[in-house]
Amino acid sequence: MTSIATLGSHCALQVLKGAKDEGFKTILVCEKKREKLYRRFKFIDKLILVDTFSELSECSSQLKDDDAIIIPHGTLISQMNSSQIESIKIPVFGNKWILRWESDRKMKEKLMVESNLNVPKTIHNPKDIGTLVIAKRHGAAGGKGYFLATSEKDYNKKRDKLIAQGIIKGDNDLYLQEYAFGVSAYLQYFYSPLTEELEFFGVDRRYESDIDGLGRIPALQQMDIDLIPSFNVIGNSPMVLRESLLDEVYSMGERFVDTAKRLVAPGMNGPFCLEGVYDDNGKFTTFEFSARIVAGTNLYVDGSPYSTFLYDEPMSMGRRIAREIKKAKK
Ligand code: AMP
Repeated sequence: MTSIATLGSHCALQVLKGAKDEGFKTILVCEKKREKLYRRFKFIDKLILVDTFSELSECSSQLKDDDAIIIPHGTLISQMNSSQIESIKIPVFGNKWILRWESDRKMKEKLMVESNLNVPKTIHNPKDIGTLVIAKRHGAAGGKGYFLATSEKDYNKKRDKLIAQGIIKGDNDLYLQEYAFGVSAYLQYFYSPLTEELEFFGVDRRYESDIDGLGRIPALQQMDIDLIPSFNVIGNSPMVLRESLLDEVYSMGERFVDTAKRLVAPGMNGPFCLEGVYDDNGKFTTFEFSARIVAGTNLYVDGSPYSTFLYDEPMSMGRRIAREIKKAKK
């Protein structure tokens, strides 16, 4: 019997609940420190306990015995490098090679630019900072250690502070991008290679610490505190878009899927997310993508305002993944 497995973090509950609803055996690769948490959930059939997720490859034979398919999520990407992910011996849902394009800033930019998405300018040298920029760490850092800067001097000061705090080692850890103003939106999609159809599944916003807390403090006090606000994701909140924006949401997703097919076979199969901001003209700037399920989909375990238009039953992203596997098996 095929089983569905994932790492115990990020969106594991949603993924395994969806898998159970579709009739699969469910397996969680779980760090011992979180065993108590995950034992609470009866839809998890089996826990494989590890000290750290880096032991995943050592669980291969157990997972193979269970005919398991791994569902990759943000924790897999942050805990394993691209080569380690590519050498996983059990089937990985989606396209494990596109995860390298998510982790590598240059490849990421190429995929977005070739998809004809509106992408913020990259600043290759801190000397060229002439406007508000955001300094981001490589990989799936989740916004921790990111900071804003308006000049080279400002950048150097903040970089040195983060080095002193042990958060980064130096310039090489940072990637500079023009700051995009507007209303943030994280667009969640699912592409089925079986039907060759793109489904827009939902949209969320993120609450990031410290940046989202700053607005609660009056400007005078903000100026008095010597804080480098980071963009560390704490949670997500739901959102719906003006209906007039939906057509372009689909077009952007389709362009991304087409480009991924061309650049990184077999393409953008399964869930993905385009992340960015809408400006005052409703124009979207994409500053990031995730080439796998995002945690913002945890909002919609009973379906979203958009999945409801596509399915006559509650359809989470986790369940949609399991449904695709079921169809593919048939
Ligand atoms: P990321 O790791 O790229 O998803 O970035 C984490 C957070 O930083 C995002 O959720 C945004 O709040 C913010 N961010 C990243 N890039 C930009 C950008 N170019 N303009 C504005 N905000 C950004």
